[in-house]
Amino acid sequence: MIAAGEVIERPASVVKELVENALDAGARSIQVELRGSGLDMIRVSDDGIGIPADEIALACTRHATSKLEGFDLSGVTSLGFRGEALPSIAAVAELTIVSATDNSGVGRRVTLRTGGVEVDEPAPRPVGTTMSVRNLFHNVPARLASAGRPQTEMAQVAQVVRRLALVAPSVQLSLRSDRREVVRTRGSGDLTSTLIDLYGAELAGHLLTFGPKNLDDAVVRGIIGSPELTVPGRGHIHVIVAGRWAQPRGLLAMIESAYRPLLPRGRHPILVVIVETDSSLIDVNLHPAKLEVRLLHERAIGEAAAGLIRDVLGRTPIPLRLERPTSLIGLDLGPRIDEAPASYDADDPIVTPHLPPLRLIGQVANRLLLLEAGDGMYLIDQHRAHERILYERMTQADAGGGPKRVTLPEPLLIELTAAQARRFSRRQDELAALGFEWEEFGGRAFLLRTAPSMPGVLASETPGALASLGESGELVPTLRDLTSLEDEATDTWSERLLVRLACRTALRRGRPLSREAMRALVEGVGQSDLPAVCPHGSPLLMHVSVDQLERQFDWR
Ligand code: ADP
Ligand code: MG
Repeated sequence: MIAAGEVIERPASVVKELVENALDAGARSIQVELRGSGLDMIRVSDDGIGIPADEIALACTRHATSKLEGFDLSGVTSLGFRGEALPSIAAVAELTIVSATDNSGVGRRVTLRTGGVEVDEPAPRPVGTTMSVRNLFHNVPARLASAGRPQTEMAQVAQVVRRLALVAPSVQLSLRSDRREVVRTRGSGDLTSTLIDLYGAELAGHLLTFGPKNLDDAVVRGIIGSPELTVPGRGHIHVIVAGRWAQPRGLLAMIESAYRPLLPRGRHPILVVIVETDSSLIDVNLHPAKLEVRLLHERAIGEAAAGLIRDVLGRTPIPLRLERPTSLIGLDLGPRIDEAPASYDADDPIVTPHLPPLRLIGQVANRLLLLEAGDGMYLIDQHRAHERILYERMTQADAGGGPKRVTLPEPLLIELTAAQARRFSRRQDELAALGFEWEEFGGRAFLLRTAPSMPGVLASETPGALASLGESGELVPTLRDLTSLEDEATDTWSERLLVRLACRTALRRGRPLSREAMRALVEGVGQSDLPAVCPHGSPLLMHVSVDQLERQFDWR
């Protein structure tokens, strides 16, 4: 009824099936050993419930499974349920099973070659099962030939083991390859320490947990590496749905659009998203390796996960890493911190909804604002702070629901080539939706009459402390350049326009600032619910904790 035609494609597929079986058998400790990257031998030993002596050979026949009660597939909670793995492995390798169901010390050994039982005898073994797979694909030359280089196969196996370690953080899991240890988890049951076991101690202190968030039919939680821990590919994004590692496409897309604007371009996070949901709400029988699941309420779950990720990434200031004291020598602190020595407004902290109360100390190197809070020191990049403020203001809606729009005292003239003008006209509605209104002024010129609110850039706005610190001259060239971006999806086009406009018109680094301007920047950033990163995803806020200073200076 549920045959999926399971295919054993490579050593990693064998490891996946055998470790899943061990987990289904309730193992607390599982060892995986490889020789010759798995083509010579794969051995998986567990301390699970074992297989009764008279059922070992049966377990290796097609569609034999002990995991289904009746024919109801909707409630399966075990990782396997089709009874296809052992016969598929036995068909392409020599399989030896040694298993015992109690601790009498005696179990049974069964060896199968090309599917038939060759050995069936008593063997010493404490409770649990050892499966040894030798000479994989010896009878399928095509698959043997298509096996990748040993490192490639090994990397695939390690990937499978890491995924299962995250599925079962309370199980001790180890992987050795030609006696070298590749993976080892402690089985602490804690997801953070499991991630550290898998990826290394450098992760400690850089993992942000989010959730749990309760939805009607699911609970969403997880862990994400902080923005300085990113990697180039999506290989370390793990989604676990109802106890299975899975790749639900829609959910993954929603997660990615949540972190994309908060991480450096082209980089991806180390991320684990756990979705606890009733297994009757998912359909795992879509994919031969059960990697794709159909998830009911995927949209709601994806929105919850995306919201949690956006919040945790956008709010956490990046801890400044002061490596060895020697590197401090290279730290250029710039000429002078502040003109007036004692002008640090101690009784006048800057209070905002999304940052702790901050006391402004001054400007460093004409680039950074230096601030103090109860929990240490904060550094703010002045350019990115203004960028964040501009981006938020441009995306803010008026009371009437439209964008907050400013009428320019003098309309701005935009002159274009014929091709640019055609593209520009096509964008009229989208530009209007952002707050830009213009009229044609001869065939290829346009007069810009309104723009979205851009404090510090547009002179017509109430002259505040930031007035004319921005690069107002960049407004027209940026709009003109954007017309050469070819037809992209509307939402990404206007998003890119806003990000680029904010970046190009924001006040530059190297500009000395008045205290009022610095306060205005900090106030603006603290109003944003994503105060830690600029719209490109680069850090704008750094934190040096008192604790860190104590350690670095050896004050304790
Ligand atoms: P499935 O996992 O879909 O049931 P398999 O072919 O993987 O099918 O395994 C067949 C049966 O063998 C399982 O249902 C289980 O009863 C038994 N089995 C396999 N591996 C183990 C193990 N490590 N410990 C205990 N039982 C096992
Ligand atoms: Mg199985």
